[in-house]
Amino acid sequence: PETITVQELANRMAEKGADLVKTLFKMGMPVTMTQTIDQDTAELLVTEFGHNIVRVSASDIDLQIDTTEDAEDTLAPRAPVVTIMGHVDHGKTSLLDALRGTDVVAGEAGGITQHIGAYQVTQKDKSQITFLDTPGHEAFTEMRQRGANVTDIVILVVAADDGLMPQTIEAINHTKAAGVPMIVAINKVDKHEANPQRVRERLLEHDVQVEAMGGETQDVEVSALKKQGLDDLVEKIQLQAELLELRANPDRPAEGTVIEAKLDKGRGPVATILVSRGTLKVGDVFVVGAESGKVRALIDDKGRQVKQAGPSAPVEVLGLSGVPMAGDPLQVVESEARAREVAEYRQGVLNQKRTTTAPASLETMFSALK
Ligand code: GDP
Ligand code: MG
Repeated sequence: PETITVQELANRMAEKGADLVKTLFKMGMPVTMTQTIDQDTAELLVTEFGHNIVRVSASDIDLQIDTTEDAEDTLAPRAPVVTIMGHVDHGKTSLLDALRGTDVVAGEAGGITQHIGAYQVTQKDKSQITFLDTPGHEAFTEMRQRGANVTDIVILVVAADDGLMPQTIEAINHTKAAGVPMIVAINKVDKHEANPQRVRERLLEHDVQVEAMGGETQDVEVSALKKQGLDDLVEKIQLQAELLELRANPDRPAEGTVIEAKLDKGRGPVATILVSRGTLKVGDVFVVGAESGKVRALIDDKGRQVKQAGPSAPVEVLGLSGVPMAGDPLQVVESEARAREVAEYRQGVLNQKRTTTAPASLETMFSALK
């Protein structure tokens, strides 16, 4: 008989794994995210969450918005998108700040950096790297659960004095589940209690084999505090990016993903979009999640107004009808009427889903089990 892990089912249902675990527990089945359940149980869960009633496929929701792949000869190299994960206090924020300091363009822009959920650094050789500024595996898994796979490379930060901790192991598991390559940054090597070798050994227990231990995972010793090893880390990111052959067509209507969105007092709804393909331009009409809009202004991570943003560039977008959700896709469409039509359709689907996924009573749950 067919089986599926709770996590995988949650992904397919676009629901939180934890909610499925909770429901299963109430149904008398104490299982974890990584355990498998049989088809009957899976079907029961699907019904429980109301999905078979309003099972709307992505293509219906998208109303045939262009999903075609770009022809080989239209593809150009794009910057890698990097997420930093690791245990609390191991130095994620410090490392993000230190890496931001390697940007050769920030100085020119007057050093003003905005927090928009992602930033891009330009190296001396002009190559660029985009960092998601929302560290932590929650953001990462939540995006994935919503079908958005924006991360190309994960940097796993492990403090050399503290070693592998629960959230380190969680981050390893999430990264593996996503099939995203990992670079291990062994941080705080400036401390005299630091024991990088111990970290490498402990990683083996979790099937992460770094190069020094005969494996293929790159590792690098850094000190975010003393800004040591950063060039080495950047080089390893570039190397990994090269292996991935990251490319996108910059010359088409833009598509992207919401990284962050909020209602700004002065500016109205604002979303940070990471462009995945095409080029987003001022004046473009778009649909984003269940909202629509027309790009009124684009602001980059240095606070500068820009006219356009290409693949792997994070940019703040003004001119939305409302606040979308992190992980929502953005697509440029041909007309405002079309954008509104798609957004309204999606609003309808969302509302319908909300009403049918209201938790059922225990009674109906158990009668369904018979
Ligand atoms: P996060 O919780 O993973 O974001 O960790 P933070 O970046 O906030 O860092 C946690 C603490 O570790 C702070 O007090 C940092 O100053 C310190 N820290 C971060 N990186 C280093 C490092 O390379 N060396 C030393 N000695 N301390 C560091
Ligand atoms: Mg932090």
